[in-house]
Amino acid sequence: MDITLACGAGNPGSNPGRGAINLYIPSEVVQGMTEKVTDASQKQQATAQQVNIFAAKEIANFVRSTLGPMGMDKMLVDQAGDTIVTNDGATILRTMNVTHPTAKMIIEVARTQEENCYDGTTSSIILTGELMKQAEGLLSKKIHPTMIVKGFKLAASEAEKALEEIVVEEDLITVAKTAMTGKSAESDKESLAEICVEVAQAAKLADISVIKRAGAKVSDSTAIAGLLIDKSMMHHSMPEVVEEAKIALIDIDITLPDFAQQVQVQVNNNDAVEEFINKRKAQLQALAEKIIDSGANVVLCLRDIDKLAVEYLAKNGIYAARRVAKSDMEAVAKATGARIVSAIDDIVSSDLGSCGLFEEILVGDEPLIKITGTPNTNAVSVLLRAPTKHVVDEIGRAFDDAVGVVSLAYTSEQTLAGGGSSYMYLSRKLRNFAATVGGRSQMAVEAFAEALEIIPSTLAENSGLDPLDTLIELRQAHAADNKKSNFVGVNVYDGGVINMVDLGVIEPFAVVSQAIQSAAETAAMILRIDNIITAKKLAEIGEDGFQY
Ligand code: ADP
Ligand code: MG
Repeated sequence: MDITLACGAGNPGSNPGRGAINLYIPSEVVQGMTEKVTDASQKQQATAQQVNIFAAKEIANFVRSTLGPMGMDKMLVDQAGDTIVTNDGATILRTMNVTHPTAKMIIEVARTQEENCYDGTTSSIILTGELMKQAEGLLSKKIHPTMIVKGFKLAASEAEKALEEIVVEEDLITVAKTAMTGKSAESDKESLAEICVEVAQAAKLADISVIKRAGAKVSDSTAIAGLLIDKSMMHHSMPEVVEEAKIALIDIDITLPDFAQQVQVQVNNNDAVEEFINKRKAQLQALAEKIIDSGANVVLCLRDIDKLAVEYLAKNGIYAARRVAKSDMEAVAKATGARIVSAIDDIVSSDLGSCGLFEEILVGDEPLIKITGTPNTNAVSVLLRAPTKHVVDEIGRAFDDAVGVVSLAYTSEQTLAGGGSSYMYLSRKLRNFAATVGGRSQMAVEAFAEALEIIPSTLAENSGLDPLDTLIELRQAHAADNKKSNFVGVNVYDGGVINMVDLGVIEPFAVVSQAIQSAAETAAMILRIDNIITAKKLAEIGEDGFQY
């Protein structure tokens, strides 16, 4: 993907940008405020801060319309015209070719969030942007960045504690459904949520593989015990079922070495031609023989397998598949105990993996490899179906999130009410807490409390509700300060506010807590920067970087 998020001064049209998305820092942002300061070092500080705050707000603005069940999708187009339609914050930001250094730091938040919690990426980015916006207000009141950082850190650690007070107990199905709400997976969330919970309880996340295949209804998706690989046999006479399989994993072409393939031979009679062909056959046969001698009855190859070798393997009742994805090779190696071999001459029986049953199954009209009874891991696979490739890809992203989230909730066993309710609760708690802090960092704690409201207010805005009215309603409801009122969040479907536990909108504790902690840390890190020093002269960075 080559969508440039470059950051240049002034006129958007002047940037020779290579892609569709450009982040411009208007020159007044850069110059305007710096004119007010006279001291040179302060001037630099203001400049770096202005640029960083601007970048954080812009990135947050870019993804905010995708938040929540009523969020919109983005269509990402690369230069070859290939498209992805998604509302997954992490996917959007990963796909963009962001060149601005501060923007990259902010995108890092989404990556951390995705790696640790599988969900909540958009929330973490929006929150980071809002914290920077609040910081901007404090800076303009001449509050020193160090004081802001101190207040933010204090607020984040207080928030972590307060979050414990609103933990709810809910079943995993509800958690899975919440994670899929608002995605293309939504209309089939009942059946997908069941699959999610089934696999998350059956295997560790690392041992769950998801195969996506277009051409059927989403409700045809199934969970299958064992490892699935989207490949098929290379010769029709190969066996469909191999019991007690001995699996060879080979990551090079199974063919003659390059020099033997590219020789030019001049022949002057038919006998010579035949002799040449026979010799080649014999060499390939010998190669296949090496694999057979090792005791293998299944061969999975990362690259290609020569036709003659395939014939020979088939004749010997050996199953072979080519161009198996590297990740699948690794999963098979892990589950079956096979070693991936790069030299066919050296292959021995101890390199082979084993499994009780290796078979080719049919899904619709198309074959898939299924491996069960593996000695090492208890792999589980999900076969996701949807009518078209775009849909199955987007459902795959929602499903990945949901499986991760359910797995997280299953292992940590802590969940919270969604719909922005926990952010509202924390916001109120932190406002009360701020009063006890005193000093200038008190203002930063208050600002932090206000920033948290961006999640419910964005959920409201994306559902076509008035964000301010909704916030006022939420504040009123939460002021009751009882067990029920703590769970009141945004009613994105009917407007107004509603108890999210009753509605069954539940998310893992870790998703919310990580989003808050990493947003606070990133904001603090950015605020401590007083100068941007680049290896190139600023003027030289031009289209690939930023200029101001
Ligand atoms: P993220 O990338 O942050 O997970 P999402 O687009 O998945 O962004 O939106 C998640 C937010 O939507 C969470 O705050 C969650 O509580 C909220 N949410 C999910 N389902 C509902 C619902 N039915 N009603 C209100 N809010 C919901
Ligand atoms: Mg989500």
